[in-house]
Amino acid sequence: MRLSWATGTHTGRVRSNNQDSVHPAPNSGETTDGLLIAVADGMGGHVGGEIASNTALSAAIATNGTPAERISAANQAVLGEVIANPSLRGMGTTLTMALIDHDGRATLGHVGDSRAYLLRDGELRQLTLDHTVIAEYLATGKITEEEAKRHPQRSVITRAVGIIDDLHIDEFSEDCRPGDRLLLCSDGLTAMVPDSDIMRVVRDNRPATAVSLLVDAANEMGGVDNITVAVVAFES
Ligand code: MN
Repeated sequence: MRLSWATGTHTGRVRSNNQDSVHPAPNSGETTDGLLIAVADGMGGHVGGEIASNTALSAAIATNGTPAERISAANQAVLGEVIANPSLRGMGTTLTMALIDHDGRATLGHVGDSRAYLLRDGELRQLTLDHTVIAEYLATGKITEEEAKRHPQRSVITRAVGIIDDLHIDEFSEDCRPGDRLLLCSDGLTAMVPDSDIMRVVRDNRPATAVSLLVDAANEMGGVDNITVAVVAFES
């Protein structure tokens, strides 16, 4: 299957540095050979977040294997970086990746609160579960969707790459079809832009245009966090 893709990342309007990382590096292209795309949102200290997301992505890309195996390697790489530089203790990162083969089968690996969505037939479906305190409260009915948007703990994640040795990694597959679009993004997009707006932008535009419109939309809504977006269009 022919894939058209684009990636982009932006510091936003509030933060002084960008601790998100994306693969492939911000660009766009087309391929019939399959594709690995990934988004990582680092956290921890002044420089820690940037180092964590970069280290994790580099290790994940360099490792041959399933997304879960790649994320496991990323976890070890970030943990190793902390052992080498104890001042970085506490850094970690989200990591959401999709390994797409030439038939359009996407295998996803996921840890944290970055997200993957599938747009099919005008419907945007979140494929990943957020590993957050809030998502757990929502799942158990402890709070409502509206309360979740303003909850003081909304950015507290329960799982991250680079914190513990025995990391639980989500992995699952989706058979994508011509016309589908896959979106990977950091919470700097989803905390700012409603899903309904994201759906329309991804549906109505080529990936490169969609990426830049989504980054612009997040900035227009406040841009309080780093914003990272990757879009893949499955063609025929
Ligand atoms: Mn973020």
